[in-house]
Amino acid sequence: MKPKTGDFNRAAASALADADVQRNMRGLYDGFHMARERAAEATPNWEDLRDRARAVKAHTIEYLDHYLGMAAENVERAGGKVFFAKDADEASRYILDLAAARGVKTVIKSKSMLSEEMGLNARLEEAGVEPVETDLGEYLIQLRGETPYHIVAPALHLSKEQVADLLQEEIGGPRYERAEDLTAAAREQLRGKFFEADMGITGANFLVAETGTLVLVTNEGNGRMCTSMPKVHVAIMGMEKVVPSMEDMGMFLRLLIRSATGQRLSSYVTLVNGVRRDDDVDGPEEFHLVVVDNGRSKMLADPALREALYCLRCGACLNACPVYRKVGGHSYGWVYSGPIGAVVSPMLTSLPDAKDLPYASSLCGACREVCPVRIDIPRMLLHMRSDLAEGGPHSGSPRASLAERLTMKAWRLAVARPWMLRLANRLARLAQRPLVKDGRLRKLPPPLSAWTRHRTFPAVASRPFRDRWRSELRKSRRDG
Ligand code: SF4
Repeated sequence: MKPKTGDFNRAAASALADADVQRNMRGLYDGFHMARERAAEATPNWEDLRDRARAVKAHTIEYLDHYLGMAAENVERAGGKVFFAKDADEASRYILDLAAARGVKTVIKSKSMLSEEMGLNARLEEAGVEPVETDLGEYLIQLRGETPYHIVAPALHLSKEQVADLLQEEIGGPRYERAEDLTAAAREQLRGKFFEADMGITGANFLVAETGTLVLVTNEGNGRMCTSMPKVHVAIMGMEKVVPSMEDMGMFLRLLIRSATGQRLSSYVTLVNGVRRDDDVDGPEEFHLVVVDNGRSKMLADPALREALYCLRCGACLNACPVYRKVGGHSYGWVYSGPIGAVVSPMLTSLPDAKDLPYASSLCGACREVCPVRIDIPRMLLHMRSDLAEGGPHSGSPRASLAERLTMKAWRLAVARPWMLRLANRLARLAQRPLVKDGRLRKLPPPLSAWTRHRTFPAVASRPFRDRWRSELRKSRRDG
């Protein structure tokens, strides 16, 4: 699945002009973000927890092969099967072959960003298997044929009225007005599917290496139904989701849930250990864990981008981001949006295809402030910008144009020599005359024309700062 991020500017402009989207997004900051702030304040040693979590993540990613090996051994000891897939194709093929071998016709799914990344629903449909999303938000965007708008709240962009229209159109019956009735209508549709399905597919919030335990965090209980009702449970997991121990998992749960929604604990935390045992009341007869790379090794290999793998997918950076809050999730053109999406999407696909995304940020640092594992997203965005400009290893394209590089070289020479800077300043003041309007430069000539395509520049001052400074100094000395 390729991102369509080349259209970021156009998509962002249309989201900004869409009154519905702007209205529906308004609650994001006052809701999720403020709830996270209150939860952080109420949690003793919150900052220490963040430091510890970051250290554990750094250690686990450093020794990822060791912890994945340990986790796989323990999953198999509990009767599960583990498959390591190098990409989305390989992972999907494993699941499709399994579905064909077991005669699966319907699959119930619990929310998984990795499944979106793999384009798994489309692949299942092509193979004649019906995928049914059972998280309410995911169910709604599946009906609309969309990707998630937000990591935690996939249908965030839809108002109650839009949901009412959608459900009436897709499942028939009366047009409900109240949220409770809309939820009940969706629930009724899904209930039958839970009984019908032969396979459940879930993601994984964590995999505990020392026990082989899969951990799912949900608020609707659908994850628990997907893992316990069908005969076959397949969990798909990005390879970075492993944590060393149960003790670590407790810490990450606290950080993840409070950062995501501000809850102390989500309504359901489901722990899955392999297949159903003789004295279990429910559970799958088969459990398969598919561990997916799909570009993550590329991030692992780059020390400047590796920390993106620490991400817990809590969504706090999206809620804090002034850009995301205005342009919304679909402007990013792929599955992952917001600040972390601007780093992850280009790396999991290709930087040239997603080259707008590193620039979709004001670099204000709000994302870094709220991240439970202190991921330095602005630094990574700058790294990717420099990669693009300098023709670095991820850019897949030649460096910036010759004209731009020569301009930058000339600028570097000038700022290092005061006489040259003075001369350049004088020349610029003369050259800018026909271009200045109301003190702003509205249209720069090539090769700098791209700089004024979407913004204006302040004109070069009529008197340089150094001259004003000098005369101020002289004046203050004179005045004693
Ligand atoms: S980068 Fe940090 S804040 Fe953003 S989703 Fe990941 S863990 Fe949450």
